[in-house]
Amino acid sequence: MKLANLHNRAVLITDGGATDVAEASSGLFGPDVQAIYENWSAFREFASTIDLSAPEPFDEAGLQAPSPVPRQVFAIGLNYRAHAEESGMDVPAVPATFTKFPASLTGPFADVELPAPTVDWEVELVAVIGTRADRVAESDGWSHVAGLTVGQDISERTMQFAAGNQFSLGKSYRGFGPMGPWLVTLDEVGDPDDLGLGCSVDGVTVQDARTSDLIFGVPRLIAELSAVVPLLPGDVIFTGTPAGVGITATPPRFLRAGETVESWIEGIGSIRNRFVEMPRR
Ligand code: ZN
Repeated sequence: MKLANLHNRAVLITDGGATDVAEASSGLFGPDVQAIYENWSAFREFASTIDLSAPEPFDEAGLQAPSPVPRQVFAIGLNYRAHAEESGMDVPAVPATFTKFPASLTGPFADVELPAPTVDWEVELVAVIGTRADRVAESDGWSHVAGLTVGQDISERTMQFAAGNQFSLGKSYRGFGPMGPWLVTLDEVGDPDDLGLGCSVDGVTVQDARTSDLIFGVPRLIAELSAVVPLLPGDVIFTGTPAGVGITATPPRFLRAGETVESWIEGIGSIRNRFVEMPRR
């Protein structure tokens, strides 16, 4: 199942277009996307009965983040072996965790303002929590996941490393968390522990890896995080980026106004974001 957020309404995506969840369920589920995660198990059951035979065509520009207002957004640094190496850092013993403040999330095809000349890309597999996870064993981790989506952990490197480290702020400028184009449930993803993912800048591939290179996979992240704090329905986990970010290039390469970053994950889809000058205020 592909669940998307089209103009703030929950829809199911099929080849021909979108089916509105609230209309199909006579208001039992939706239109609010976030509320669907609160009732995820019942929704999954109901969704399998929805008639998808008459989908409506839609403009992809109307898609928004598949979990638009999560209560918590976790993000993991240095979680691919090759990226830890390119960063000159040791492979961490525990997940290096920070947050992207939820208001930084945006849609899969949104334009993103550049606040500084040192903004970088980070394609990431993003997991959305379906059922509350509190002190969950690694072996039960996947059972708490509603599905997976594509994310960009856009990073303003100067702010990220200012004053020691402030990853959370440097990765939370407006629009720095595009995600989508939809949430794909695990039964449709293939092997989530071995998915190709990558991104390009103006058509030139800069990141190209597989989730099998993750140090801490999704179930382990859910175990580690939920040992500290409960994970709530709709919560979002940016699982870390593979090698090929701009700051480790020689010389470092950052995003410029007018450039477009396309990010993809095998079995899920792709998102596309154009970077624009910050308007004068
Ligand atoms: Zn990241």
